[in-house]
Amino acid sequence: MSAAVAASRLVDRLPSVRGRLTPEQPLSALTWFRVGGPAEVLFVPADEADLSTFLQALPSDIPVTVAGVGSNLLVRDGGIDGVVIRLGKGFATISQEPGNKLRAGVAALDAMVAKAAAKAGVAGLEFYRGIPGSIGGALRMNAGCYGRETKDVLVEAVVLDRQGNRHVIPAQEMGFSYRHTSVPPDFIFIEALFQGAAGDPIEITARMDEITRSRESTQPIRERTGGSTFRNPDGFKAWQLIDAAGGRGARRGGAQVSELHCNFLINKGGATAADLEGLGEDMRARVREQSGVELQWEIKRIGKESP
Ligand SMILES: Cc1cc2nc3c(=O)[nH]c(=O)nc-3n(C[C@H](O)[C@H](O)[C@H](O)COP(=O)(O)OP(=O)(O)OC[C@H]3O[C@@H](n4cnc5c(N)ncnc54)[C@H](O)[C@@H]3O)c2cc1C
Repeated sequence: MSAAVAASRLVDRLPSVRGRLTPEQPLSALTWFRVGGPAEVLFVPADEADLSTFLQALPSDIPVTVAGVGSNLLVRDGGIDGVVIRLGKGFATISQEPGNKLRAGVAALDAMVAKAAAKAGVAGLEFYRGIPGSIGGALRMNAGCYGRETKDVLVEAVVLDRQGNRHVIPAQEMGFSYRHTSVPPDFIFIEALFQGAAGDPIEITARMDEITRSRESTQPIRERTGGSTFRNPDGFKAWQLIDAAGGRGARRGGAQVSELHCNFLINKGGATAADLEGLGEDMRARVREQSGVELQWEIKRIGKESP
C-alpha cells in the first residue's frame, strides 16, 4: 500500500474535528533543522474541547506524537506513523493572574511569555527569552538557561491524557530533572501557570536584552539547528569533550558540527536527518574513544528511518 493510500485510510478512521487534519504533511517545515519525513496525518486542533473530543474517540491502536515548534526535534527521514498533534493559535493565549502569576497556553513561545512577563512587571521569567521553543516543549524538557529552569517558576501544568481527560499537575508532582519530566509520555500539556515576583519592567527588559546578546555571541541561533545535541555528562561539558575529540567543524553530508559551539549540529543546506543523526553518532564514537565518556542524546530523535 502506498503511503498516500495508508494516510487517507488513516484519516477515514479518525474522529471528525473542528481543527485541521492533513494527511502526509511534511514535517521538515515544522522543525528547526528543516529535515524529516511526513506525519502520516497532522492534526491541528481548534481548541481544548476539540482536542479532548478527538482523543476520547481516537482508536487506541493509533499512535500519537506531540510536536511543539520543533526546536529540540530531529524527525527521521521516513516520517512519523499515526497522528502528529501540533497545538496552534487556540492554545497560545497569555494572561496575567493576581500575585505576579502568568498563565500561558502551550503554543505560546517562551520568548513571548518572557516579554509578556516583562510588560506586566513580573520578574523571574526572563530566562525564557533565550529559549526558542514553546511552553509545551518547555514543560516536557524542563527547559532552562542561565541558572533557571521551568521547574523553578512553574506552579502547575494542565494536561489531557490519551483518553482526553483533563488533569492539573502541581509543579512538585511533575518529576522534573535535568531536561526531563516524569509525566507520562502520552500526556499532552495544554497550559501552564507560572509564578514570578514583582519587578520593574525596564530592569526586566534590560536583563532579557543581555540574555539575547549573550546567546547571539555564543550559539549559532540563526542556523538550522536543534540546540544542545547531548546532555552534559556529570562533571563534563559535552562541547568540551567533542572539541577535545577533534569534532569541531566535522561534517557528514550536509550536516556539520558547529564551529561556534561544538554541542550544536547544523544543517548547512541539503542535510538529511540521517546525515545529522549519523554525525551525532560519529561524535559519540569519537568521544567514547578519546575520553571514555558515553554521550547521551538530549535532542529528541523521532520517527522512522528511510526505507
Ligand atoms: C538555538 C537553540 C537554542 C536552544 N537553547 C536552549 C536552552 O538554552 N535551554 C533549553 O532548555 N533548551 C534549549 N534549546 C532546545 C529547545 O528550544 C527546548 O528544548 C524547547 O523547550 C523545546 O520546545 P519546542 O516547542 O521546540 O518543542 P519540540 O522540539 O517540538 O518538542 C520537544 C519535546 O517536547 C514535547 N512536547 C512539545 N509540546 C508538547 C506538549 N504540548 N505536550 C507534551 N509534550 C510536548 C515533544 O513531544 C518533544 O518530546 C535550544 C534550541 C535551539 C534550536
